[in-house]
Amino acid sequence: MPSNSPLPGRLAAARLERVNAGLLRRVKTARRFADRRLQTADGELIDFASNDYLGLSQERAVVEAMVAAAREFGTGAGAAHLLGGHHPLHQHLCDQLADWLGREKVLLFASGYMANLGTICGLLVRGDVCIQDKLNHASLMDAARLSGADLKRYPHVDLAAAERRLAQSEGKGSMLVTDGVFSMDGDVAPLAELVDLCGRYGAVLMVDDAHGLGVCGDQGRGSGADFCSQQLPLLMGTLGKAFGQSGAFVAGDAHWIEHLTQSARPFVYSTAPPPPVAAATSAALAIIRDEPQRRQRLQDNIAYFRQLATQAGIELSAVFGPIQPVVVGDASEAVTWASRLADAGFYVPAIRPPTVPLGSARLRVTLSAAHSPPQIEALVSELGTIHAH
Ligand SMILES: *Cc1c(COP(=O)(O)O)cnc(C)c1O
Repeated sequence: MPSNSPLPGRLAAARLERVNAGLLRRVKTARRFADRRLQTADGELIDFASNDYLGLSQERAVVEAMVAAAREFGTGAGAAHLLGGHHPLHQHLCDQLADWLGREKVLLFASGYMANLGTICGLLVRGDVCIQDKLNHASLMDAARLSGADLKRYPHVDLAAAERRLAQSEGKGSMLVTDGVFSMDGDVAPLAELVDLCGRYGAVLMVDDAHGLGVCGDQGRGSGADFCSQQLPLLMGTLGKAFGQSGAFVAGDAHWIEHLTQSARPFVYSTAPPPPVAAATSAALAIIRDEPQRRQRLQDNIAYFRQLATQAGIELSAVFGPIQPVVVGDASEAVTWASRLADAGFYVPAIRPPTVPLGSARLRVTLSAAHSPPQIEALVSELGTIHAH
């Protein structure tokens, strides 16, 4: 159906297409508990899908911090940050994040999607160039398109291709943007090389470390932990993954952040997140910074999963973070695996094209510090059975 035909007919056609391709998605309710149980309408599952890598969404001290702040200050922020909605709890969180990451300033956003839109659109204009890894998160691609800059993508982690695009845009306003840890493959961007290339060609480097912060690097400072703000001027992180809360931020030198305070429209024109969420996030950050044993427990769980899966003959890629893709190949086969796992009591989603390239449909196993060894053993045992048939 032509893309400009009347909307109602187009909706019906699009729906039919999705149903026929088995790609219709549904929103289902689920209750989540501290021991990784997930209660759904279809029964109880062990959750191997969430990004709550350290279990902090269920952590006692974090919950108490949120409740205490709500009792004292109420729930909503009441306004945007620039119009009286910026609570001292927000500022405290900004200061803590900046201190932890060794950056001068931090700007908060209501979500990672907004942070990426705000940052890229707040900096780039028509005629600039935004160079991105092809497997970057959708919000980064959307941001570049909305900014009006020239979006130039390079094949996944292909440094020679990235360099060609940087060379073509030398002398223009250019920015190279990459995920720190890629969300569907779990692999890490070659940041040292990208820092070097951006320095040589005068491009600004922005890293979206949604999946690295709290998980890797000294004190959980993520995949960019070893780089200073001169090498890595724009560091974006989300608070809904390892932090277990919601929201996001961008950290950098004062002149970058002050510019974004004026120009990032999702910051300027959106209500500040609830102050109790900021209080909970500060409590989560204190745990991330001061309790390395949680990261160790996560690493132990990842290593245990990899060891058992390898023994069961399941092929894994050489990635060592909490995202452990099991590539099945065929999309409908991946769906069959996921539904057999669900029947056995495990929630592991199948990720299909177009989210991942054709022929690389997969199960995306996500591990957490909150999983118990028997939960991991049971999952791999089931995976092994399915794999053997
Ligand atoms: C999840 C994610 C986002 C979006 O963050 P939200 O806070 O969920 O909006 C952005 N970038 C990457 C790489 C992500 O994984």
